Amino acid sequence: MEKSDQWQLRLAARYPEIQAGEENFFNQWTHTGQFRDHGKPIAVCDLCGNRGLRYHFLVAHRQTGEAIWVGSQCVLNFDLSEGAMLVRQRQARQVTEEAAKVEANQTQLIHMLSQLQGIYQLASKQEQRQIRWMVGKFQQRGGFSPADLGWLFAAMLASGHQLDPASFPLILRAKKDRQELHQLSISALNWLKPALTEKQCQKIAEMGIRL
Ligand SMILES: [Zn+2]
Repeated sequence: MEKSDQWQLRLAARYPEIQAGEENFFNQWTHTGQFRDHGKPIAVCDLCGNRGLRYHFLVAHRQTGEAIWVGSQCVLNFDLSEGAMLVRQRQARQVTEEAAKVEANQTQLIHMLSQLQGIYQLASKQEQRQIRWMVGKFQQRGGFSPADLGWLFAAMLASGHQLDPASFPLILRAKKDRQELHQLSISALNWLKPALTEKQCQKIAEMGIRL
């Protein structure tokens, strides 16, 4: 058995309806707009049991009201749009600057995930595994590696999905990240550009890469 199929098995263990091919399972739930950033990869997904998660999203059953905290790999399967709307409404009412900032980060993350969801839900099983694996790394590191982001952007552009690169955070922490950056094509680098912080632009210039 492939290691990545374990996700499917973990889901089926908790909700046998999924294994029974209940296509509507995910449609019965929706993202509530509630979100937690644990700051460190310490959380567990209530749906699949995946550990080492930094971000948590609350999804609720439309009929029973049962609510569970899931990770960003699992949340890709649920309807994010209603939650995103609620977040925007809350943000408009935020009084303190700090609270507004927290909500702004949340809005950016949900905006990013809903773009990923666009390609995820049309992707083949194998591509879905690949996307979940990249999102899993994102969950632990707080950003995507250059090669992962290059792959995701290429997939989104090829599928004709609307892409807002600025909402995808990039990580340039490890030596491997910098090696990946050197291997990217000029066009991939151009897509990454809006996702970069000022500090990252500086770092990349110091590496001798021209953007
Ligand atoms: Zn999960």
